[in-house]
Amino acid sequence: AAPQLPRRIKPLDQVVVNKIAAGEIIVAPVHALKELIENSVDAGSTSIDILVKDGGLKLLQISDNGHGIDENDLPILCERFTTSKLQSFEDLQSIGTYGFRGEALASISHIAHLTITTRTANSPIGLRATYSDSKLITPKPGQPANPKPVHRNKGTQITVEDLFYNVPSRRRAFRSPSEEYAKILDLVGRYAVHCGGVAFSCKKYGDPDVGVSTTAGATTTDRIRRIHGNAVANELLPFEVSDDYLGFKAKGMLSNANYHVKKTTLLLFINNRSVDSSSIRKGIESTYAPFLPKGGHPFAYMSLDIEPHRVDVNVHPTKREVNFLHEEEIVQKLCESLQEKLAAVDTSRSYALTQ
Ligand code: ADP
Ligand code: MG
Repeated sequence: AAPQLPRRIKPLDQVVVNKIAAGEIIVAPVHALKELIENSVDAGSTSIDILVKDGGLKLLQISDNGHGIDENDLPILCERFTTSKLQSFEDLQSIGTYGFRGEALASISHIAHLTITTRTANSPIGLRATYSDSKLITPKPGQPANPKPVHRNKGTQITVEDLFYNVPSRRRAFRSPSEEYAKILDLVGRYAVHCGGVAFSCKKYGDPDVGVSTTAGATTTDRIRRIHGNAVANELLPFEVSDDYLGFKAKGMLSNANYHVKKTTLLLFINNRSVDSSSIRKGIESTYAPFLPKGGHPFAYMSLDIEPHRVDVNVHPTKREVNFLHEEEIVQKLCESLQEKLAAVDTSRSYALTQ
């Protein structure tokens, strides 16, 4: 028999590499949307409207009234690692947002049909550009130019169609569009509570009802009321604590001891990005336990600002869990202060009852 020889090693085609990388960053429509919402917020928008078809698999469209994109940047807009937010590696240490890698639009362009319409304050007209594999699509003879001039107001509209059209295995992994839509509504609801000064709307294509809608001027309590209902909005305690030594500031709205549900709702933002932290979740739950009936859980909206150099921002974009320095001490400090707050309200209530 012929001797067994190894198969030779060859580099993968760049298109395949990009598709694999994109599929790792964007696993579901909601991941693409999160990046797009943060881009709109970063652009200083006060109004963000989202339209969804088939759970975002058919259509994901986000329209904002932010500063728009300079027409000269359109050719490189969707290339990997092109960004207006970061220049040096050192900038990573001080950057306030996590949207730093210039990877979102590039990734989307590899796995979906991407159209961007934008207009800046000093441009007389809007431009619409279509992208594929991080490049402007070259128009066929007889087709209009790309980008092409269009009418629109200041701001940007990003249209993502047929997500994963060229990744059939991923596409098949989705069980139901309504499940994906639920994840989208959850995410939009989080940003709608957190982003004061920004009006949000999110709806299904062709549906007259909006899934989420908030106004720009609404208070945090009113935004919670719109999204989570009166029952919780009427029982909120404002919460604030900071510590210079640990380098953090926290602000939030948490339910008092009159309110409890079967499962904790935690809306957590660290440096303005929606994240999860099992240590904070566990800390909050155990702080509430003595104040709530057995099996009862709280509602908590918490916005935590940690000095950027103490947060590990160089984590993978899909990573929902965030790591930060002095995590244990910060969680402890948060919980102590929450405990005091709950105890103070509890005492005044029992005092009122005995009067
Ligand atoms: P990053 O946000 O990490 O810079 P992205 O791929 O998400 O990377 O976006 C690339 C660039 O495109 C951004 O740096 C920004 O300049 C521009 N951009 C994206 N979305 C918008 C938007 N909605 N409004 C204005 N500019 C945008
Ligand atoms: Mg971004």
